[in-house]
Amino acid sequence: MKITLFWHRRDIRIHDNAGLTAALQSGLPVVPLFIYDREILDLLPSRQDARVTFIYDEVERIGRKTAQSGGQLLAFYGRPLEVFAQLLTTYEVAAVYTNEDYEPYATERDTAVAALCAQHGATFQALKDQVIFAKNELLGKSGRPSKVFGAYRKAWLEALRDEQLQPYPSAELFTTSNLVKLPNAPSRPTLAEMGFEEFRQFIPAAELPTESLVRNYHLTRNTPGRVDSSTRRSVHLRFGTLSVRELMQQAQQLNPKLLAELIWRDYFMMLLWHYPITATESYEPRLRHVPYRNNEEEFQAWCEGRTGYPLVDAGMRELNKTGYMPNRARIATAGFLVKHLLIDWRWGDKYFSDKLLDYDMSQNVGNWQWMAGTGVVAAPWFRVYSPESQLKQYDPELAYVKKWVPEYGTAAYPAPIVDHKFARERAIDTFRTAYRAAAV
Ligand SMILES: Cc1cc2nc3c(=O)[nH]c(=O)nc-3n(C[C@H](O)[C@H](O)[C@H](O)COP(=O)(O)OP(=O)(O)OC[C@H]3O[C@@H](n4cnc5c(N)ncnc54)[C@H](O)[C@@H]3O)c2cc1C
Repeated sequence: MKITLFWHRRDIRIHDNAGLTAALQSGLPVVPLFIYDREILDLLPSRQDARVTFIYDEVERIGRKTAQSGGQLLAFYGRPLEVFAQLLTTYEVAAVYTNEDYEPYATERDTAVAALCAQHGATFQALKDQVIFAKNELLGKSGRPSKVFGAYRKAWLEALRDEQLQPYPSAELFTTSNLVKLPNAPSRPTLAEMGFEEFRQFIPAAELPTESLVRNYHLTRNTPGRVDSSTRRSVHLRFGTLSVRELMQQAQQLNPKLLAELIWRDYFMMLLWHYPITATESYEPRLRHVPYRNNEEEFQAWCEGRTGYPLVDAGMRELNKTGYMPNRARIATAGFLVKHLLIDWRWGDKYFSDKLLDYDMSQNVGNWQWMAGTGVVAAPWFRVYSPESQLKQYDPELAYVKKWVPEYGTAAYPAPIVDHKFARERAIDTFRTAYRAAAV
């Protein structure tokens, strides 16, 4: 029996799924598949990782749904090339469908899997699903990605057609007549079999935020002290448990500011695809040799939320405790690490990648380099935010600080690790010297 495989990756959902729709329309019975990729999981610092538990829960959820619909979700713990080598020799696979993934590792992996499929006479097709515009679809006049977000956003809005936000009919096609159960298929691995412990942190339901939250988003998004200040949907967008089209449609109808934030997400994904080097290296060549201080003790104080700057400390403590941090606090903590402490942005990027539930390479690297002023997006390296002014502006009642730094205002709270004015001048001087030296 010839079959089509559908490979779920960053799209752990059945509804509104571009690649799954194409697979279900292929004319052959479909077997969905998920691979717990050891190339990624083996690098995690802990075997107690809320993201792995979340993925596991969601894979099991769609596994149950697939069984109810007359099919069977396969899942393996292994390396994609090895898993596919086995599947392609065991079954008569005519086609493999999946959705595009723009990270450097993923593009290499997909090229290798596509080549393996071709050797076995199977086609491999990856569809655009997690963004509206990808790769070369929205370039600037120079034929390269625009370095100015405003220009990109304008082009994005002009190019958008209503049908691009329409849902794909995968849920309607997900029926007994299009799915199949394979004889002797192995059972899906459990978390324990993969060597992970269950660890759950709060993640809101994978549903659209309320209408009132979205309507007020532009007013609340910069108030980290409020629980409903922003949508908290980043984890779902990261793992595709919510379709970005659904959220964009809601934003398009109710709040242009929210739509603009979602456009940032498209933008950073496009930038990483064009400039994979930025995953590990500053995009700006003149800022590749900044003599960062990289003081280990100060880095530790930053990680633990002991810098003596309450907005920074609140953000880091929330991150450590919950795996989440509001955007405003991410800006404050990132800026502080790179500019005030003069610590390489890659240290912060790595720390966030270990801790954030919504960690996404394109978004993290893009934002860290934007804060450092080293990235593709035009952002001045001499911009140094004052953590005190930010506190006054965004948490004037100290609601956020009191929640995460209860000892603030008592003798138990540490004095500032560095003076703002001194640190600001030191940062500008260091960056300027590096920039000018490299330019010569
Ligand atoms: C240093 C730094 C690191 C970051 N790392 C990540 C990361 O690893 N993963 C991640 O998803 N976001 C990252 N962000 C962006 C942003 O902080 C989070 O997306 C946002 O805080 C998530 O909360 P939310 O879903 O409530 O966002 P909302 O404010 O409700 O926004 C809705 C959605 O829009 C997108 N969005 C919002 N702000 C941004 C932004 N600045 N850049 C790109 N997309 C945005 C996200 O997909 C978000 O879920 C980072 C920001 C900074 C400054």
